[in-house]
Amino acid sequence: MSSSGIVYLVGAGPGDLGLVTFRAKELISQADVLVYDYLVHPELVKWTRPECEVVYVGKKAGFHSVPQEEIEALLVKYAKEGKRVVRLKGGDPFVFGRGGEEARTLAKDGIAFEVVPGVTAALAAGAYSGIPLTQRNTSASLIFLTGHEDLKKPGLQVDWRAYGALKNATLAIYMGMGHLKFICAELMAGGLSAETPAAVVQWASLGRQRSVAGTVADLAERVEKAALTSPAIIFIGEVVRGHEQIDWFEHLPLFGRRVVITRTRDQNSELRDKLETLGAEVLELPLISITKDVSRDSLVEILAELGGYDWIVFTSANGVRFFFEDFLKGFPDIRALGLLRFACVGAATAREIQKYHIKVECMPDTATGESLADALIATGSLDHAKVIVVTGNLNRDKLVRKLEAAHAIVDQLPLYKTEKIDLTNNPVADDFRQKGADAILFASSSAAQSFHEQSAALQLAPGAKVPLGGSIGPQTTATMDELEMPVDFEAKKPSLDELIEAMIERLTKMP
Ligand code: SAH
Repeated sequence: MSSSGIVYLVGAGPGDLGLVTFRAKELISQADVLVYDYLVHPELVKWTRPECEVVYVGKKAGFHSVPQEEIEALLVKYAKEGKRVVRLKGGDPFVFGRGGEEARTLAKDGIAFEVVPGVTAALAAGAYSGIPLTQRNTSASLIFLTGHEDLKKPGLQVDWRAYGALKNATLAIYMGMGHLKFICAELMAGGLSAETPAAVVQWASLGRQRSVAGTVADLAERVEKAALTSPAIIFIGEVVRGHEQIDWFEHLPLFGRRVVITRTRDQNSELRDKLETLGAEVLELPLISITKDVSRDSLVEILAELGGYDWIVFTSANGVRFFFEDFLKGFPDIRALGLLRFACVGAATAREIQKYHIKVECMPDTATGESLADALIATGSLDHAKVIVVTGNLNRDKLVRKLEAAHAIVDQLPLYKTEKIDLTNNPVADDFRQKGADAILFASSSAAQSFHEQSAALQLAPGAKVPLGGSIGPQTTATMDELEMPVDFEAKKPSLDELIEAMIERLTKMP
């Protein structure tokens, strides 16, 4: 038995990725095994190394979560295999998270472990809804409570009446939505004034956050009307008063808006971040997958002759990544590139190239293959020049033909393939089909194209909100027109910021 395994019980915070600790991020990115559950943001899983084993132990539609003893047994098993295990839990592991039980089991089995705290839900719910948890003169204590109890079962019972009798306290109740009416009634029976301000905050810190405020007497009714459900924190106390003056998050320009974005796994974080910073709920539809698929023969031939080429042309960040992976396997020294000049479309592609401290010498303003060809031709360097065009399985015929017409000698280097993702059981696609969205952003022609190809799998249910379509610029608009997709707004200039700006303008004009 190897004893070098270790288990990290890590708090993942309330949802928003920015609220994860540095320590948590570091451990996730080093883990051999990641065990996570329902309240953990799926984006965190992307921080793992490709070889990390990812184990989901949360609730699945129609199924219960993996029983606690089984989770603990899993942690022990992996650690005994010598693995570095990260057990990720929503919020903080030691606040209503059964982290204590897991730690005790590990200690009992002699397994090394570490506990990493996280921002617990009540703290996030307060901060993101304008409810300070304590307040000079009115609220001198803060109590975290669980409202989740089987009222018929004997055992641990919260004496709500005793809490109702407390003076100057803030109550933050977890897991209480199922018994909200009962809890409020008991607090009042214990002496709490019916006028006491109270609120519920659902999905705190996320774009889908919703909140309702009232008094302890009418909160349950208001919550029912607004159809708020778990996961939510219930706040009771004077601190709720005046929350609307400082609930900065719910006043963000895109708060309450559902926005669909459509690119692939690793290209999207910039757009997602921008939208979330403005308060939007982002639905990232994974329409296509890009996998490495190298034509060995072309690769070997081209790498052998690398010194003889004048230009290398990239049309995607993935192409750059895959190219350098193979290049660096063949040549340990970047100078083997010689005087090869780099051309590309798109800011993300350029950034990927610049990571290697290589200058992009040619990049058109509009991100299309054809404008790249025009820009290259305009350099006046193409006559008899040897050019490598890095491609996927979707060929770059127009680009290649234009370059050849300008007397370049073009070799294509296929490095990846783009495939449709099956959306039948995809949770984000399902959420979209059921509820729709306010807007959908197309940041490229190919995004519009892939969305169109998936339209059968993305049919909206009756009553779902039909999203407005937004285009990043004239090229994408032309593609959308061709595909008969409505264009409701277009960016003034082709950039993500302008695209978002155009959307906000259009949405605020809506009735
Ligand atoms: N360990 C977690 C709590 C797990 S218990 C923590 O420290 O936050 C699960 C309960 O946490 C939910 O029923 C809900 O009351 C609360 N919760 C978790 N995430 C939440 C969120 N984003 N917004 C509101 N409540 C949340």
